[in-house]
Amino acid sequence: MQHFPIFLAVAGQTIVLSGGGDAAMAKLRLLFKTEAKLVVFTANAAPEIIRWAATGKLALVTRAMQAGDTAGAALFYAANEDDIEDARVAAIAKADGALVNIVDNLADSQFITPAIVDRDPVTIAIGTEGAAPVLARAIKADIEARLPRALGTLARIGKTFRHAVDVLPLGRKRRDFWAAFYFGVGPKALDANGEAGVISTLETLLDRQIMATNTRGHVDLVGAGPGDPELLTLKARNALDKADVVIHDRLVASEILELARREAIIVDAGKEGFGPAMAQADIDALIVAHAQNGHHVVRLKAGDPTVFGRLDEEIAALESAEISYRIIPGITAASAAVASIGQSLTKRGRNSAVRLITGHDTKGYADHDWAALAAPGEVAAIYMGKKSARFIQGRLLMHGAAPATPVTIIENASRADQRIIATTLAALEPTMTNAALTGPAITFYGLAPRDAVAHASRLKEFA
Ligand code: SAH
Repeated sequence: MQHFPIFLAVAGQTIVLSGGGDAAMAKLRLLFKTEAKLVVFTANAAPEIIRWAATGKLALVTRAMQAGDTAGAALFYAANEDDIEDARVAAIAKADGALVNIVDNLADSQFITPAIVDRDPVTIAIGTEGAAPVLARAIKADIEARLPRALGTLARIGKTFRHAVDVLPLGRKRRDFWAAFYFGVGPKALDANGEAGVISTLETLLDRQIMATNTRGHVDLVGAGPGDPELLTLKARNALDKADVVIHDRLVASEILELARREAIIVDAGKEGFGPAMAQADIDALIVAHAQNGHHVVRLKAGDPTVFGRLDEEIAALESAEISYRIIPGITAASAAVASIGQSLTKRGRNSAVRLITGHDTKGYADHDWAALAAPGEVAAIYMGKKSARFIQGRLLMHGAAPATPVTIIENASRADQRIIATTLAALEPTMTNAALTGPAITFYGLAPRDAVAHASRLKEFA
């Protein structure tokens, strides 16, 4: 960030501007939104500026700026649309100690003016460090469309009501109350009955919310997908947006955790390094405890929560504590990984079924129907299959699988550090060991990357 956004107190301060043409007028129209004293220096004021001076909106000095004219000014705008004159007046203002902006000259400006969405006292500033003014305008238009026109009025009324809302517990209840006020009943009441209507609506809303506060929390069991934040579902994003508490697995990418509400408590339930991962029963108890405090809990699991996610144990705990829950599916590692090798999980004439299998379970290496898997054309996505690679290889060969059957290992599917290793059943070990994988990996039995080289270069073109 080369420019740090701040909101400057300018009420009663002096802001000086040099210039009298279009650029000057554009800046002045913005500055009229403030409660600052505006002083304009120019020998060629546009008629509009002269009118503004006549109506007292600004003080006009009809000569070029001189040393000392900016003494005591908080901000200075050079808007002469003339590089030499702008440089001259900017030097004067700098010497006088004002912060300087030169219109359309990012390099020599000490501050820049953002695109502004004005719902005073709510102000949204959008900046792109001068890189993409078009983008800033598009974002502004988007936000303008989303925020009710009356939001500023509502915020002013809401401010007088803040102490009354203290009776609601911190967290979701309070947020729900304000969300309903600003985006639901508030704008409607203002339209219908003006400011008095808004105040009585606020009172009714508060009463209703107090009545409803004694309810229990809620748990969303959410799939975080394979790692790429763009592979999150909108439902998952919304849940993260509302969560009071996020309890996540070790595999959940940090970029995804960053999407959680800033005030949310983030709990890592898969901590390693300081000892073994948390026991499942402890995780179940933790989820229940947070929900019983009336919180909206997001239980965030890698991939899809219904695939090797120990989901049923958590559901059982929630059901016995009578806590409401919802499952939000995610993209499972197999889906992301198969996409990265340009293949399908099922294919007409090759395999009409695909198995999602695990390399090991609670009892050790997991057993499967090896004879069925050994038949030609079978496809399996092997989760947690790093340590069990030799076992799986041995079982399949023993049951007659062709040694040349393609096998593909995908590490960190969908993440920036994704790796694809194409091999065969005969070479699965030592390939797996030699690959020295450090991230999560999925192994496809029966699938090879589609024309690997061509696929990778095509991907690059669109990256
Ligand atoms: N619920 C998860 C799976 C949890 S089991 C899902 O639906 O994806 C953990 C295993 O998932 C890991 O051992 C690995 O085999 C696989 N896995 C998870 N994320 C992965 C990723 N980004 N790339 C490759 N494999 C991944």
